[in-house]
Parts: sequence; structure tokens; C-alpha cells
Amino acid sequence: MFYSARLKLTAWYLLIIMFISILFSIIVYRIAAVEVERSLRAQQFRIFRQEHPALGFFPQFHIEPPPLDLQLLNEEKNRIKLILVFIDVAIFVLAGGAGYFLAGRTLKPIQEMVDEQNRFITDASHELRTPLTALRSEIEVNLRDKNLSLKDAKALLHSNLEEVGNLQVLSDSLLQLTQFHFQFETLSLADIIDEAVKKVIPLAKAKQITIEPTRSSSQVKGDKQTLTQLFVIILDNAIKYSPEGKSIRITAEKTDHSILIHITDQGIGVDKKDIPHIFDRFYRADTSRTKDTTPGYGLGLSIAKKIVEEHAGLISVKSSKAIGSTFTVQLPTN
Ligand code: ADP
Repeated sequence: MFYSARLKLTAWYLLIIMFISILFSIIVYRIAAVEVERSLRAQQFRIFRQEHPALGFFPQFHIEPPPLDLQLLNEEKNRIKLILVFIDVAIFVLAGGAGYFLAGRTLKPIQEMVDEQNRFITDASHELRTPLTALRSEIEVNLRDKNLSLKDAKALLHSNLEEVGNLQVLSDSLLQLTQFHFQFETLSLADIIDEAVKKVIPLAKAKQITIEPTRSSSQVKGDKQTLTQLFVIILDNAIKYSPEGKSIRITAEKTDHSILIHITDQGIGVDKKDIPHIFDRFYRADTSRTKDTTPGYGLGLSIAKKIVEEHAGLISVKSSKAIGSTFTVQLPTN
């Protein structure tokens, strides 16, 4: 698809350049032809005057100058034509090569975007297919059961509802990865952190995990809703991947033009080999015990990364297995 688009774009470039070039050549030819004819006449007249020097002294003798040498004129015109055709052919070849190269450069970002979108669609449909297949087979098995009691049917519906809930979370997350609405304003960092903590506190309580929020008085420029969501994602992970009874600490550190927010947990940690990938879409570290038992689709950190990037910030992680992780978000302060 992109190859034919590249050829088409090259053809358009070439068409425009050749149109201008040929138009220019015609104009040049017209001017040059008139000029050649004029200088040929002048030259012939000069020779004629040299051959008849007496004419200058006796102007009463009128002798007609010889007619223009048409053969010479046509030869000159043909020479100009040949030079212009040669120039046009050279422009055609050079513009063709340059056009093909430029068309490739123009289309490259579009091609990368389409490839990325295709990868996204493939990943998303793959992720959606697994729970949908499970849901379908669960319903089919129960429908085939002739002795299905009302109690069994209710249990099935509960399980289905749970699955549907998970699918809804997945589809919402997928939608979020493609659509963000930002409204930038100056915000109190402590307020955003408090808001995020409020949202995850029930989960933390369920695991007897304590959260120590920052007391920073710093301000950041950003979108309230998405920044809150960013810290919810990191805190939610910190809770999910920590054993019961641990604690999570949030600290802030101001630098010249930015603020660093560290979220430190005492959880299972991230393996060195997984660290470069955890911000990728759908990536879940294969810590065999947690992957199957901890809910998630591997989308949280990719959403977090996107939010941080939209705020011209950075997100990174330092982690040690079985000791804990520190996620650091760097946000510009002005
Ligand atoms: P998930 O839905 O799996 O939590 P995320 O994108 O939020 O997806 O995280 C990607 C992976 O990074 C997780 O599956 C997990 O393996 C790892 N991870 C993220 N946060 C933590 C953390 N605080 N401690 C340990 N591992 C983490």
C-alpha cells in the first residue's frame, strides 16, 4: 500500500516539477529564438556594411541588405531546443530520484503511525478474545447442562457479570490509550496525591497496607483528572504487588525546573529483565505466582507513561526483587 502511495506521490512531484520546467523551457526558447534572430540580423548587417564600405559615404545609393540566412537561424534554434530538451531530461531524472526519496520521507511517519495502530488493534483484539472465549464457553457448558438449577444459573450470572466488569475495565483502558482530554492548570501536588490516595485507600485497607502521602507544598502545571489517574495507577500497582501489612511512601523532591515524585513500595519488585518492558502495552512481568492471581491487563503503566509524556515529564523505576520498587515521576514546574 505504501509502495504504491510512494510511487503516486513521486509521480505528482514529477508532474508539478516537469510542468514548471517545460513551461520555463518554452518561455526561454521563445526569448532565445527572438534574441538569436536579432543578433543574426545584426551580424549579417555588420558583415554587409564591411563588404560595402562606400555605403557609409554615399547614403543616396540604396542597396538592400541580403535576406536573413534562414538555414543558420534554424540551426541555432534547433541547438537551443536540444539544450533545453537535454536540461528537461536531466531535471526529469534528478527530480524523479529526489521525488522518490522525498515521498519516502514524507510517508515514513504516516507508515509508522499506521503500523503502530495496526499493532494496537491486533494486541487489543487478542486481549479481548481470551476473556470473551472463556465467557462464551462457560455459558455454553451451563446451557448444555440439563439439570442446571436456579442456584447454578445465578452463580453463572454472577461469574459472567464479573467477567463483563473486567472486559469493561479493559475496553475503558484501551479507549483511554487513544483518547485523552487535557485541561492544563496550576495544581497543588499534595491535593492531587491526596485525591489519588483517597481512591485507592479501600484496596490498601483490604491488605492492611499503609500509605504515607507527601506533605510537599509544590505546585505543578497539568491536568487534574489525568494526573490523579497517573498516581492512582502507580499506587494501585504498589498495593497489588505488595504483600499484606507493608507500607507505601510518597515523597517529593524539587529541582530547578521540575519536581520529582517518588512512590516507594515494599512489594515483590520487578525483575531486571522486565524493567525495560513494563511500560509497554499489555506487558505483564511473568512472576508466575502473581501474573495469574493478580488482576490486570498490563495497560496501567502504558497509560501512566502516556499521561506523563503529555505533561512533558518522565517516568522511571528502580526496583529490587523481594525488596520493593520506587516509581519516579518527573513533572515540569513551569
Ligand atoms: P498490570 O495491569 O499488569 O498491573 P501495568 O501496566 O500496571 O499492568 O504493570 C505492568 C507490569 O509491571 C505488571 O504486570 C507487574 O509485573 C509490573 N509492576 C508494575 N508495578 C509494580 C510494582 N509496584 N511492583 C512490582 N511489579 C510491578
